[in-house]
Amino acid sequence: MKAVLWQGTNHVSVETVPDPTLLLPSDAIVRVSSTAICGSDLHLLDGFIPSMEKGDILGHEFMGEVVEVGRDVKTLKVGDRVVIPFNIACGTCDYCQRGLFSACDNSNPNHRMAEALYGATSGGGLFGYSHLYGGYAGGQAQYVRVPFADVGGFKIETDLPDEQVLFLTDIFPTGYQAAENCNIVRGRDVVAVFGAGPVGQFAARSAQMLGAAKVIIVDRFPERLRLAAEAGIETINYEKEDVLIALKEATGGRGPDHVIDAVGLEAHGHGPGALLDTAQQKMKLTFDRITALRWAILSCAKGGTVSMPGVYGGLVDKLPLGAAFAKGLTFKMGQTHTHRYIRPLLAHIEAGDIDPSFVITHRAALADAPQLYKTFRDKHDGCIKVVLNPWGESAGEVKRA
Ligand SMILES: [Zn+2]
Ligand SMILES: [Zn+2]
Repeated sequence: MKAVLWQGTNHVSVETVPDPTLLLPSDAIVRVSSTAICGSDLHLLDGFIPSMEKGDILGHEFMGEVVEVGRDVKTLKVGDRVVIPFNIACGTCDYCQRGLFSACDNSNPNHRMAEALYGATSGGGLFGYSHLYGGYAGGQAQYVRVPFADVGGFKIETDLPDEQVLFLTDIFPTGYQAAENCNIVRGRDVVAVFGAGPVGQFAARSAQMLGAAKVIIVDRFPERLRLAAEAGIETINYEKEDVLIALKEATGGRGPDHVIDAVGLEAHGHGPGALLDTAQQKMKLTFDRITALRWAILSCAKGGTVSMPGVYGGLVDKLPLGAAFAKGLTFKMGQTHTHRYIRPLLAHIEAGDIDPSFVITHRAALADAPQLYKTFRDKHDGCIKVVLNPWGESAGEVKRA
């Protein structure tokens, strides 16, 4: 089969590799019909997330058709159309039983690697991610092995096109959980979202769905701000105005009641903290550039929530913890418990409350993945979200549709 392989820092290629096979009786094999490139794939591409190995198959946002099931699989059968959450969960451990699927105790065989790096255990396994998260082959491929298929295979029984349900695998639930974590008071609370990438877009629209009185999004790319504005979201371009002052002005001086950091460890921005982060990251003295998180803490109203769907990799410094303490902020973060959200959010899509395909800017064949990783990384050609067809023919140079 064809698959997108990580070949080293800033280098991916599409190669022919062996088809996956059933390894355990609870596995299924899925023929992938659509797969997407995610912002977290960029953290792998540029080597900021440790423990990638040459030849790893990328991709954790994918869906398709079940073509083979192990003998213990009970809920899926060959021919079912399924979406697969990006995280792998056993469904039976204490965490899974409590709905904390991303903390699954049984799906990440490499948790000791994380203990060595962080001094603490990491979460459950992830498709197409680093070996810290199990090193599972990903779904930017024609076929993928799905472990714990009864838990991780969600049937789509309507004829909604792939493009409307594909993002249930990650970015829609991730944005939704980030907004839900804010405990928004309907009709009262103002929510600010840092980062108007795909997760930020879904976080902002989810905050609207959850009843925020006003949602403000912060970015520097006009096309991303425009996309949010189309849904009635207010926008701030932090390169054009002082973001902390603009957020105060938009909230009667109080600051947003809750702030979502949908940027994570590769924040841009300005000021001495941002410069120092960049220098330290280059010298491998820090994993993370935390400008967005710093702004989130400084702008948030007293008693508010800083919700962090953006990925962080390690130890940070120059974090204004004193300001967070003084304001009595609540921090919520971590990988999404995707399994919890797929059915309720699918119901929202079926009801016409949201059409997640609004975020797609580029559609192409899997063979065009190397080109599109660069387009997406460099935010060229207005690129916000790329969807790949593993069975399509390459059309040469891919332009925004
Ligand atoms: Zn993703
Ligand atoms: Zn589990």
